Amino acid sequence: MTRTVFIFLISLFIIGCGGSSVDRSNSLIVIDAGHGGHDSGAVCQGKQEKDVVLEISKRLRREFKKSGYRVYLTRANDRFLTLGQRTRIADKKNAKVFISVHANAISNRSRFNIVEGIETYFLQKTRDARSQRVAAIENAAVLKGTNKLSRNVIIDSVLNGPKIIQSHKLAIDVQNSMVKHIRSKYRNVKNGGVRPAPFYVLVGASRPSILVEVGYITNPKERKRLFTSDYQERIVKGIVEGVGRYIDNRKREVGF
Ligand SMILES: [Zn+2]
Repeated sequence: MTRTVFIFLISLFIIGCGGSSVDRSNSLIVIDAGHGGHDSGAVCQGKQEKDVVLEISKRLRREFKKSGYRVYLTRANDRFLTLGQRTRIADKKNAKVFISVHANAISNRSRFNIVEGIETYFLQKTRDARSQRVAAIENAAVLKGTNKLSRNVIIDSVLNGPKIIQSHKLAIDVQNSMVKHIRSKYRNVKNGGVRPAPFYVLVGASRPSILVEVGYITNPKERKRLFTSDYQERIVKGIVEGVGRYIDNRKREVGF
């Protein structure tokens, strides 16, 4: 066998191994369970957003570790974190990606049975009314102590950075994968898609960052599912697989 043929065969083998050959031990994932402490997030029929997102985040920690990643949770219990604390942790620890976990809600009771589905957001200003509405709900608790001018200055500085494109790619991989895993059991789950929105929790995280809305706590059917381990595990598998695809692709692109 000539040396060239040998090298060719070796490279085929490496390419054929795909994701399994990728070393993930230097990839730190920061998981941010939304809300906490006095901030319950959305509440419906006694069920609280802060509880379900903490459960999902702990499951994510377990599953990411099993897949070889390092993981850090911004909160592992029922406590409140300021906006700065959440994203500073991701920056200090030099995370590869930042994922904020939330459950969605609407205020119009007559539409509780209608509005449902899974959505993923990345930080960007938008005129889309629906994205603005979801962002307004999620932003309410974390906005205390900052004025509108300083918030806009921060957002502008982030929007001029290169992270938007990567965050958008990460959002697409995670959203597709979550929907795939959930639909393998709940066939008609609505794919709310990937959307840009001005979420303040994503401001200041200088790395690819997304916010997932794993279902509507105000929708009776989804509220019931959200608190089951089966649904949570499917969401978790979807997120881990999506992040894996994003990181592996990125590594191949630029040696990330
Ligand atoms: Zn939330």
